[in-house]
Amino acid sequence: MDTVLVLAHTESDGSLGGAAREVLGLARTLGSGGGFVVGLMGERLDAGAAEAAGSGASRVLGIADAALGVPRYGTDAAAAAALCEAAGASVVLAAGTSRFMRCLPGVAQRLGGRVDTHVTGVSEAGGVWTVNRWYYRQRMEATLQRTHRPWVLLVDPGSQPAWRGEPAEARVEPVPVELAEGRTRTAVQGLRDVEGGAQTIRPDAELLFVTGAGWTKPQADGQAHVAEAEQLILRFLELTRASLGSSKSLVDLGGEGQAVLSFLSHLNQIGQTGSTPRHAKGLATCCHGEEPHTVGWRFITERRAISLDANCGWARGKADVLYVADAFAVIRKVNELLLEKG
Ligand SMILES: Cc1cc2nc3c(=O)[nH]c(=O)nc-3n(C[C@H](O)[C@H](O)[C@H](O)COP(=O)(O)OP(=O)(O)OC[C@H]3O[C@@H](n4cnc5c(N)ncnc54)[C@H](O)[C@@H]3O)c2cc1C
Repeated sequence: MDTVLVLAHTESDGSLGGAAREVLGLARTLGSGGGFVVGLMGERLDAGAAEAAGSGASRVLGIADAALGVPRYGTDAAAAAALCEAAGASVVLAAGTSRFMRCLPGVAQRLGGRVDTHVTGVSEAGGVWTVNRWYYRQRMEATLQRTHRPWVLLVDPGSQPAWRGEPAEARVEPVPVELAEGRTRTAVQGLRDVEGGAQTIRPDAELLFVTGAGWTKPQADGQAHVAEAEQLILRFLELTRASLGSSKSLVDLGGEGQAVLSFLSHLNQIGQTGSTPRHAKGLATCCHGEEPHTVGWRFITERRAISLDANCGWARGKADVLYVADAFAVIRKVNELLLEKG
C-alpha cells in the first residue's frame, strides 16, 4: 500500500492557503485505506497544523524555520525532501503553487522519483493510482498511471473543492533539516506588485470579469470613451473583488500604440495563447467570444457575456446567457446597484 504525503507550505500567518486546502480535500476522497500524512513547512506552522489535524491526517510532520518564511529553491527543496523522507512517502500530493512548481521537480529528482505537474484529478483503486491532466492548451485530457515511486503530483489550484472543516488540536512531529549552510545564497528582497498599480488578477475570486476590445472602439456617438471605460471597470472590480481577464485584441492594442486600459497587461489575457483560469463564474464584456479566446474559459462553470452583437461567438453555444446590450450602460447601472447595496 502506498504511503500518501500531503506536502504544504504555510502562509505568512502560519495557516494553509486555499490551494493547500484543496489538496487536503483531495486526499480525503482517495480512501487509500492507510489515510494520509501531512508534511508542513514554513516560518510558522500553528494554524496550518490545526487545519491538517482537523482534516483527518494520521500524522503531522513539520519544519518550522525562519528561512522558510520566503520562497527560495535551496531551503524549500531541502525541507520538502526531508519531509518526504521522514514520512516514507511513496505518493506525494502538493498544490501547484509557484513556490512548489519551482522546487518539487528537483525534489523528485533528489529522491529518485518522478513528478507530474498540472494534475487536475487523482483517483486510486486497488493500489493503482490514476491522474488526469490536460494537454495542448486544454484541448485533450489524458489519464496517466505510473508504477515508479516516489511519485510527486502537483495539483492545479482551482481544480478541487477545498477542505473547509474545523481545525483540531495538532501534535506536530518536528523533522530535522540543515537549512543554513550553502542553502541561503539567494536573498529574497520582498514582493513587488505588477507594474501599473492595481492588482487585478485574483485567482481566488468567485467571478472572472473579462474585458474585450469593444471597450476602446467608437461607440454610438462615433467617439471612443476609454477614460470612462477605465473608470467603470475599475469601479466594478473594486465593488466585486472580481479577477480581471482580457481578450488578446485588447491587450495587444497597447503594443500597437492605441489607447488602452492602463491597468491591463498580457498577464490578464485569457485564451489559447493566454491563461485558462478556474473561477466559478465568468462575465465577458465588449468581447466577441471567438474560439481562441473562449478555449480559455473551459473550466469556468457559469458563463455570461454582454455584447452588442447578437451573432457573436457567445451566442453560438459559448455562453449560458448572452445579454445583447451596451456594456457601458449595463456596468454603469450594475455599479450603481452594488453601491446602493453597500
Ligand atoms: C493563433 C491565435 C491565437 C489567439 N489567442 C488568443 C487568446 O489567447 N486570447 C484571445 O482573447 N484571443 C486570441 N486570439 C484572437 C481571437 O481570435 C480574437 O481576435 C480576439 O479574441 C478578439 O478580441 P475581442 O473579442 O476583444 O475583439 P473584437 O473581435 O474586436 O470584438 C469586440 C466586441 O465588442 C463588442 N462591443 C463594442 N462595443 C460594445 C459595447 N458598448 N457594449 C457591448 N459590446 C460591445 C462588439 O460588438 C464586438 O463583438 C488568437 C488568435 C490566433 C490566430
